[in-house]
Amino acid sequence: MGSTPSIFYKWGGGIGPDHLTIDTAHDEFLVTDDGREIIDAASGAAVVNLGHSVPGLEDVVSDQLADVSYLSLSHFTNEEPERLADQLTERAPGDLNSAFFVTSGSEANESAFKLARAYHRERGNDRKHKVIGRWQAYHGATLGALSASGNTTRRDGYESQLQGWPHISPAYPYRWEHDGTPEEQAVAAAQELETTIKQEGAETIAAFIAEPVSGASIPAAHPHSAYFEEIRRICDEYDVLFIADEIMTGFGRTGPLFAMERFDVVPDILTVGKGLSAGYTPISAALVSDEISAEFDASDPAGGSFDHGHTFAGNPLSAAIASHVVAQYSDDVLETGRERGEQLVDTLEPLRDHPIVGDIRHAGAMIGLEFVADRETKRPFDPDVAVNKRVYERAMEQDVYTYPGSGSVDGVAGDHLMLAPPLTVSEESVEAIGDAVVTAVEDVA
Ligand code: PLP
Repeated sequence: MGSTPSIFYKWGGGIGPDHLTIDTAHDEFLVTDDGREIIDAASGAAVVNLGHSVPGLEDVVSDQLADVSYLSLSHFTNEEPERLADQLTERAPGDLNSAFFVTSGSEANESAFKLARAYHRERGNDRKHKVIGRWQAYHGATLGALSASGNTTRRDGYESQLQGWPHISPAYPYRWEHDGTPEEQAVAAAQELETTIKQEGAETIAAFIAEPVSGASIPAAHPHSAYFEEIRRICDEYDVLFIADEIMTGFGRTGPLFAMERFDVVPDILTVGKGLSAGYTPISAALVSDEISAEFDASDPAGGSFDHGHTFAGNPLSAAIASHVVAQYSDDVLETGRERGEQLVDTLEPLRDHPIVGDIRHAGAMIGLEFVADRETKRPFDPDVAVNKRVYERAMEQDVYTYPGSGSVDGVAGDHLMLAPPLTVSEESVEAIGDAVVTAVEDVA
C-alpha cells in the first residue's frame, strides 16, 4: 500500500484529510470514526430519503441471500423484480405500466434514450434520434446522459465526446426574462421547445428530457404547472416522447411520491433511482407507458425487440431491498416530508432579505438557496469566490452536511446550496440545520 489512498476518487480535489471517514449512520446522522455525529441535511446525494435506519431490512436481505444470488433477466425472472415492478407501476401516474430495471440514474436515462429511438424506429420513423435537454440540467455522467445534460461544469472537458444534441433554457423562474404572469412566463419558456423542434426538424427528434423540479444544478427550481402542460402539448403535436427524470425528485422528495404529480402531467417515460432503494443498494428503473411497451410485445412475433440491458438489471437482492423500501413510502411519511420541508424553509426566514441571498425556493423537502453578488441585478459571484462552498464548510464545522451545487449561470459556475434532509428527519434536527445554515451564511457574507 502506497502513501496515497488506493481508492480512485478525484472529485472536488480527491480523497484526503478533508474527507471524513463515516463508520456508522442512523436516522439522519452520520457518525465518523472519531465519534462525531453529523446531521445529513442532504440525504447523501438526495438518496437516503428514509434516513439511515430503515427497519426490517436485515431480514429482507438475509432471506433473499438464502434464496437466489443472481439471474439474468434476459432469460429468467424472479419474484423480487416482478413484485417491485408491480409496486412501482401501481403507484406511478397514468399508464406507466412497465418497469425496465438498471443500476444507476445515468443508465436509466441512457435506457430511456435508446428506448425512445427504438420506439420511433419500430413505427417507421428511423430518423428520430436526437434528445432535447435543458441547460443546467443533470441527467448523469455517462456520455449519452451527459450529452442530454446541460450542466456546463460537468460537460467541461468532454464536449468533443458528447452528442451534439440541442438544449433549451431551464425552467428557472428566478432568472426568466419573459413578461406576464407566472403562467404566461411558464408557457413562453416551454415554447422554446417548439421553436427548437421546428429548427432541428421534428423528423429528427426522438425525445425531450427534463427534471420536473431541478436538482443539484439549480436546486428546487420549478415552474408553474402550465409549463409541463405546454411541454406535453408540444411533445404530442410533434411525436416527441417526454422523459421525466425523477432520479432525484422521486419518492417523496418534492412532496408527492413522484414530482410529476405536482403538475398533473403524465410523461411517456419516468426514470427513478436514488430514493428507490433509499441508498441501500444500486438500483434504478425506467417506467414506460403502454403505448411504448406495446411496440415491444414479446408475445407478438412481429413485435420489436429492445436489445439493451445491463448485467445487474433487476438483481434479486437489490429488487428485494427496493421493494421493502418502496413499501415504506406511506402517505404518512410523505406528509412528514412535506411538513419538515416547510419547517426548514421557515428556519431560513432570517436570510430572506440577506444581501447575498438572491432566492430561497423549495418543493417538499428539497430547498435551494441561491447566492448573488447583487440582489438587484441577480449577478452571481465569480466562481473563484463562490459562496456555496464556504457556506458548506461553515455548516460542516457545525456538524451539518449540506450539498453545494455545481451548476452554472450563463457559463459562470452556479452558486447554490441544496438542503434535502431525509423525509423522516426530526423537528429538532430541522432547527439545528436551519441554525447552522443561517449562521454559516452570516459568517461568510
Ligand atoms: N438524474 C438526476 C436528476 C440526478 O440528480 C442524477 C444524479 O445526481 C442522475 C440523473 C444520475 O444518477 P447516477 O449518479 O445514479 O448515475
